Order: sequence, then C-alpha cells, then structure tokens
Amino acid sequence: MKKMLSLILVLILLLLLCPCLAGADSGSGALYVKPVENLPEDFILGMDVSSVIAEEASGVRYYDFDGAERDLFEILAENGVTHIRVRVWNHPFDADGNGFGGGNCGIETAVAIGRRAAAAGLPLIVDFHYSDFWADPGKQMVPLQWKDMEIEEKTEAVYDYTRDCLARLRDAGVEVGMVQVGNETNGALCGEKIWFNIQYLMQAGAKATRQIFPDALVAVHFANPESGAYESYAKKLAYYDVDYDVFASSYYPYWHGTLENLRTVLADVAETYGKKVMVMETSYAFTAEDTDFSPNTIGEGSLVTKNYPYTVQGQANAVRDVVETVANTPNGIGVCYWEGAWITVGGSSREENAALWEKYGSGWASSYAASYDPDDAGKYYGGSAVDNQALFDAQGHPLASLKLFSLLRQGNTVEVVPDAVEAPTLTQDMSSPILLPETADAVMNDNSRQPVPVIWNADGEELTARYGGREGSFTVGGVAGGMPVSCTVNLVKYNYLVNPDFETGDLSGWTVEDLAGADELYVEDKLTDSLDGTRHMHFWSARPDSVEFTLEQEVRDLPAGRYRFSVSVMGGDAGEQEVYAYVKLDGELVGTAPMAITSYAEWDTGAVEEIEYAEGQTLTVGIYVRCSGAGSGAWGKIDAAALNSAG
Ligand code: CA
Repeated sequence: MKKMLSLILVLILLLLLCPCLAGADSGSGALYVKPVENLPEDFILGMDVSSVIAEEASGVRYYDFDGAERDLFEILAENGVTHIRVRVWNHPFDADGNGFGGGNCGIETAVAIGRRAAAAGLPLIVDFHYSDFWADPGKQMVPLQWKDMEIEEKTEAVYDYTRDCLARLRDAGVEVGMVQVGNETNGALCGEKIWFNIQYLMQAGAKATRQIFPDALVAVHFANPESGAYESYAKKLAYYDVDYDVFASSYYPYWHGTLENLRTVLADVAETYGKKVMVMETSYAFTAEDTDFSPNTIGEGSLVTKNYPYTVQGQANAVRDVVETVANTPNGIGVCYWEGAWITVGGSSREENAALWEKYGSGWASSYAASYDPDDAGKYYGGSAVDNQALFDAQGHPLASLKLFSLLRQGNTVEVVPDAVEAPTLTQDMSSPILLPETADAVMNDNSRQPVPVIWNADGEELTARYGGREGSFTVGGVAGGMPVSCTVNLVKYNYLVNPDFETGDLSGWTVEDLAGADELYVEDKLTDSLDGTRHMHFWSARPDSVEFTLEQEVRDLPAGRYRFSVSVMGGDAGEQEVYAYVKLDGELVGTAPMAITSYAEWDTGAVEEIEYAEGQTLTVGIYVRCSGAGSGAWGKIDAAALNSAG
C-alpha cells in the first residue's frame, strides 16, 4: 500500500506552488538584517514624506518605538534616515483654490516640510516635477500658467521658478542637499517631448540651483532601468552638455527588472560619464491588505515580480538589497524610500476618508484635480495607493522595518526562522486518494527558502471520503512554521495521456504505424482544424487505398481502477472506411469504439468505456484509420485524446 501510494504521488499528483504567501504578523519578532559591506559613511538613506503635512492635517499621528507620539522627522532621524525628499508642483490647486491632493505639494508645503526636516537635522532633496501635478513616465504635463509658452519663454520660466522656490527654502533656513530637475523624465518634461527642448529646461533648473545652493547636487531622474534606455538618456545629456551631478533612477522591485541589471545600467552611466548614481525611489509592501478603502498599486493578486514576501521582514530585505546594490555600484551615493509615512487617514469607511482626502489633499488625488488632469486623476481620484508600503502601521506606529536604516552597517543577526509560507496547490485525479503535501515552502527571515512540515486540519482519508470521486475544488487549512497555511485541492478528470492533444507540436508519447504509405501523416499546427488547442494529427493521401494507419500510446503504472478512453476525428473523401478507437491490455484487444469520417468540422468521438486496469498491466490506447475503395484524396484530423478515470 505504501509503495502504491508513493507511486501514485510521483505519477499523478501535480504539485504546483502558487505565489500566495501567508506571512508572519507585522512587526512581530526581531528584524533580521544582513550587514551591507562597504556602505560609505556619507551614503544617503533618504525618505520621501511629501504627503506628511496633509496627513497630519487629516488627523494622522506618528509614534516612536516606545509608543510615544512624536514628530515624524525626529522619529526618522533617530532611526538612521539621513535626508528628506519632497516633491514640488507649480500650482496644485484649481481656480477656487481647492488642492489637487497628493499632499498638495506646492512650494509652501515644501517649505513647511523643509523647516521640520531642518529642525531634526535633515537636509532636503527637492524634487521639481515642473508640472501642476504628478509627473512620471506616463505624463509630463506642462503647468497651466506655462501652457502657451514657446521653449525660450518656458526655459526662462523654469529658471525663475526654480530660483524663487530655492530662495524661499534658503530664506526659511532649510538645508538643501540635492535638487532634482524633473521627476522620472523618460524622454519628456514639462510638456516637451524632444531632447533638444528638454535639455534647455534641465539646464535652467541646474543654473538656478548652482546660484542659490552652490553646494547642492543637481540630479536628473529617470524610471524603468529595465528598459535599456538609460545609456541613451545619459548620452543625450552629455551631447547637450547638461550640467548635473547625479543620474538617479526609480527602482520598484515589482516592475523594474533585476538588481543586477540596475547595477549594470547605473555603473555604465557612472563609468562612461563620471556621474554619481543613486536610487531616488524605492519601496516594498509589508502586507497585501489595504487599510484606507482606496485600492493599492500592489496587492495579493498583482501580477508582478515578487522576490520577497509581503511581510515586514520581506519589506526590509527588499530595501536592504537595493541599498547593497547601489553601495556596490561605482559612484553609488544613496537610496531614497518613497512615501514611507503615507498611511490611512484612519476613517472606518471610504466616505469618511474621502471627506479628509478632499479637504486636506491626503489622498493621491482629489476630485478637484479633474480640472487639470481629467483623464487620470479626474477619473480615479482617491486615497493612498501605498499605505501597505509604508514603514508605519495604520495607527502610525513604526514597523520593525524602519529599524533597517540604522542596522544596515552592523547588521542584526537573529535566529533564522520562517517568515512566510507559500500556499501549495494540489491538482489530482478525482478518483485517487487525496494525499496532502507533508511540507510547504517557507521564506525564512534571511530570505532563504526551506521546506517546513505542515500539520493539516484534516487528513487525506477524511478528505477523500468527503470530496473524492467528483470534480471540484476545496481548500484545507493547516499550520506550518508557526503560521497558518492553506492548500487548494483541485480534483479533476485527470488525463493520463502524454501530449493528448498534440500541443507539443510533435508525436511525443505517440507511436504511428503507417500501413499503406500515406502522402501526409504528421502533427499540424492549424487552429481552425483543431478540436483542442492549435495542433492535431493530420493525414492526407492522393492515391486510393493509401490511407491505413494506427496512432497509439502505451500507458503503464496507472493506479488500479476503471478507465475510459476517447479520441475524436473529422475529415472527408474517405470512401469505404474503417475507423475505430481501441484499447489493449498487455497487447490483447479488450475494447473498440467505431467512428466515422463525414465532413469538415464534423468531429466524431469514439469512447471505450469501463476499462478494468490492474496494477502492473500495460495499457495501450489508440485509433485505427483505413480509407479505401472509392477513397482517393482521403484526409482527416485527429485530436483530443483522453484517458480518464471512469469515476
Ligand atoms: Ca489604499
């Protein structure tokens, strides 16, 4: 019995891993941090908190690790954050003065944030979008006030605006460490779409920066390191002799390629053009859950690269690896986390939250943004799309992952324990005994993977009695690595044939015996002539009496039981024909089912029922085709063979 079961397990069960991960509770346990070697002393560990003023106005409060309500900037500073990044929009307000949202980040907001940062000893990275609202690879809209300007006038406007904004920051006592001339400017900026014009605007921003903050670095910022376009951006910047110090990239692990690619493309720019490089935006989800009734960009069902579980530890590991990558890239100077404090405004319904988003601009966009950006913000306005990527929980308490920045150098070696468990999926024949997997794959806190034993809430015999013998799906819960895990079991009419519908494109699994020398007898790829998929077995022969063949497959090591074999055919010009499906056991014919070739697309299915199979036998299933007499130019298609349990 044991032998048979293990045989069944090997032969029949198809164990698939789905990307569903049950994670450890947020913030519980100590954070594992592998030290980052060679992390420069002055490495920038920045945090974008552009939404904070609007968040606080909406009632959000932040707490330190001792549970005391504190100034966010102080909390960040004492946890190893070195710089604060803030976006600046020209005029994110409608004609009546209503804010567009996303923190309503005009220069007044940047000054307020800059003052708070300065009080906590943190310099600012100023991120000019040169737009009235969000600028990214999808849109680089010109500010309303500048919309009718030709490039010369617009260049002047960028210079004046940058100079005035930076002067206001300087006069407010803000320390500015870096200025970005544009945000994710992948081939567009401020409504301009050709580099000949873009470069003037960047030059104007750089010139103003050099004047007001001579010690600040000037950065250009792009997204999509995986696109292969960075080399061409850097080349154009060099060609136009744009004055900048830092070539910065966004890097969101879900979408932006591998870390190795990131390192390579940034190293190319650093080495070819002698520029500093950094990651200007990154973040990672600590949970798949949304907390503010406004959908998040990342959730459990998101079809994205997921190299880390959505846990607090997974979030920390993701960011840690980005830091390590940049620290080991030539001229790599830093990494900024994006909007680590943009949590829910705390209401218990969407309506309650929406009132705050609209009033204070604490959502990603308000309805008022429709006046400027009707197609995106105007349609989809709402709350935070990244509350599950913050470094604070929904109540404003810091997650353990916030400790990462201060632990990066020395590391934090704690016991390696499971952090998340992958939920297994079991797909098997409905008539076979259900055998749940004994282990599940766990992602450990050091991001290694290990199988861990599972204790299921029900045993296989119980489940077989309850669900066996019919098609369907169910889930069964259990515990693995101290965490809940569930297994989805799919009971299907399992097809025991190899390549049953010829989709491999060849005769894998099948044997053909051509008894009369047909002109054509092969697997064909033609959707319209297939019953299943796009491929099928094709035959045709010009001469009379030249179509006679068998197409068969041998099957061994089936579980003992009753089976049913079926196969389908269609064709024409068959003349006098003999066509049937057949089954042999240990070479002895035990069943046939006659079939008929009639006309195009008229599929006929032959089925041999009630095949009694005993352990150790060899089962052969096949189809015999003979066209003779008046048959000349006989042709046909064979597809959709199936050997199922008779149930
Ligand atoms: Ca949300």
